[in-house]
Amino acid sequence: MTKTPIGFVVIASFIVFSDVANAVANNNQRNVCNIEVPFDYLMMALQWPPGICYSNLKKKCVSHGNRFVIHGNWPTFSNGTWPEFCCFQRDFDRRKVSEVEDGLKEKWGTLFTENSDEGFWRHEWKKHGTCAAVSSKLKGQRNYFSESLALYDRANVQSWLEKAAIIPHSASSSKRYTLRELHQAIESHTRKKVRFECRRLPRRIASDPILSGMYLCYDPTTLEYVDCKQRDDADCGNGNVMYLLKR
Ligand code: 5GP
Repeated sequence: MTKTPIGFVVIASFIVFSDVANAVANNNQRNVCNIEVPFDYLMMALQWPPGICYSNLKKKCVSHGNRFVIHGNWPTFSNGTWPEFCCFQRDFDRRKVSEVEDGLKEKWGTLFTENSDEGFWRHEWKKHGTCAAVSSKLKGQRNYFSESLALYDRANVQSWLEKAAIIPHSASSSKRYTLRELHQAIESHTRKKVRFECRRLPRRIASDPILSGMYLCYDPTTLEYVDCKQRDDADCGNGNVMYLLKR
């Protein structure tokens, strides 16, 4: 058996160790792209344009219909935190979504006139999409956007709400829905827990929380529905919620 000089082992170990240390340091600074971050589930964030636009007095809204649209599809950890900006080198390339661009405009367009659709997609790709690579079906920009659109199409949340007689009303209406009704309407189809999001305005403007979004959660591998782990329904309280119609 050949003997390895101890000095060589020490120097070799040092080189290997400093490579790893550099990789980690680079990863913290610039996030090297070959590290795929494992996460627990994907969370599809849907936004309700009339709710957001009514409650967002500072930003002017693009005209959207009475339809939930995509905000993003976010890799998430069970404890409610999430990885973000996993790879700065992968900038958004519009050519890679040309085949699905019509669908993106219709279902994932920005709500705000001050933003562009492309700027919104770029942001969502860099912040969330680059972290989805561990899910082979969403790996790479093309897959990330087309698979997210497919998940959106599969969740017919609008008709699920309508079937449960949950329809939007104008702000002057006194009609309210309970969170329980909202959960039941969606979860009777997904069979898994979803989350809702609301905005609160001063009571003189809106007496109850305004529904602004909904979250659906998916297994990263099978893309089947899983329970959304966070138990709170951000700012929706436990009572009645206003489900607003486009003005
Ligand atoms: P995220 O919630 O994914 O971390 O960030 C959303 C970012 O995208 C914000 O900087 C926001 O200004 C921008 N943005 C552009 N269009 C939209 C939109 O339609 N909805 C939301 N929620 N954010 C948008």
